Amino acid sequence: MNYITQDKINASTTKHLYNFAGGVGLLPPKVIKESQEAIVEVPNTGISALVIDHRSQLCRNIFDEVETNIRTLLNIPSNYQVLFLQGGASLQFAMIPMNCCPNQSQLTNYIVSGYWSQKSSKEAQKIRKSHIIWDGTSEKYQRIPKPNEYQIDFDAAYLHYCSNETVEGLQFSHPVDTGNVPLICDMSSDFLTKPVEITKYGLIYAHAQKNIGAAGVTVVIIRDDLVENISDEIPAILDYRSHIKMKSIYNTPPIFAIYVVLLVTRWLLNDIGGLENMTQLNQRKASVLYDVLDQSQGFYQGHADQDSRSLINVVFNLPTPELEIQLLEAAQKVGIIGLKGHRSLGGLRASLYNPMPIDGVLYLRDFLEEFQAKYS
Ligand code: PMP
Repeated sequence: MNYITQDKINASTTKHLYNFAGGVGLLPPKVIKESQEAIVEVPNTGISALVIDHRSQLCRNIFDEVETNIRTLLNIPSNYQVLFLQGGASLQFAMIPMNCCPNQSQLTNYIVSGYWSQKSSKEAQKIRKSHIIWDGTSEKYQRIPKPNEYQIDFDAAYLHYCSNETVEGLQFSHPVDTGNVPLICDMSSDFLTKPVEITKYGLIYAHAQKNIGAAGVTVVIIRDDLVENISDEIPAILDYRSHIKMKSIYNTPPIFAIYVVLLVTRWLLNDIGGLENMTQLNQRKASVLYDVLDQSQGFYQGHADQDSRSLINVVFNLPTPELEIQLLEAAQKVGIIGLKGHRSLGGLRASLYNPMPIDGVLYLRDFLEEFQAKYS
């Protein structure tokens, strides 16, 4: 079936049909509508979501429900705390070494498998001794390392990795096995896209703006033993214990952004039916696009090695940069936007965050096939 009808082309001059951008993802249309309504009034409360006081019962109810939903979705045991923090994932790059490596002489371990894990390791180096135990820089970040390619320091304070490298489109299929060393993971681009074995992790963090909400809030899930030895010299705002003690209202939180996360978690639970279902949808979306790449006889060249491919960010190149520009222009004309690759890598990237519907991916598939037929 051809999805690119003249009607859609006409419509696309005023309205974008599908947005595949990597930095900020989509929201389910239902959530946009409910967010819009909540700006006027959170249902049955008489108050706008924009003016909720953070010390009010309503705020507590919202935070409790969103926390419960995340705990339910991920099956989080009670010895883990769930926090809603500000400063994006980037602030966690610094908070983690400050909090989770209290001893100045202890090593931290980092796997550098892409742009974002490299950034986090660089921040850690400013704060603690960090040992990069595997570095994919010289290979241009085309693959995820195999466990026998790195050696974890048995006495490291933690090992940090990024489960989904948003820029290069690489994804770990399993948590890194670290034995007794606490495992810390940047899940910003694949959080709540699939079930996760929480007990393998010491700490997980993810900003909201890709799969679970709007920018402004970062979810941190932290096991109790990781906060036992934090130094009192850390400024309170950067100390996880302040946020745990105050249940994420140590200072004024971004309540509206957290309310949007609540709506997304309700959608995941009630409309999608949980993360098993979500992952099936995500697998289907990714396989539609990787099939296009694999059947294109080299016209579309995937960046990632086959066994390192991300289900969330599909990164690829065309035979020439000129053709890539042509494709972006042609896509825009039919209502497909956001395909430009990250500035550090170039090329093209289709991001398939949770709310991207399968119809959008089928529409993109048809467009890519038609473009290839015309230009190869
Ligand atoms: N980690 C990953 C995996 C990311 O994709 C990004 C941003 N796209 C970040 C960290 C940085 O996030 P923030 O802008 O919230 O600091």
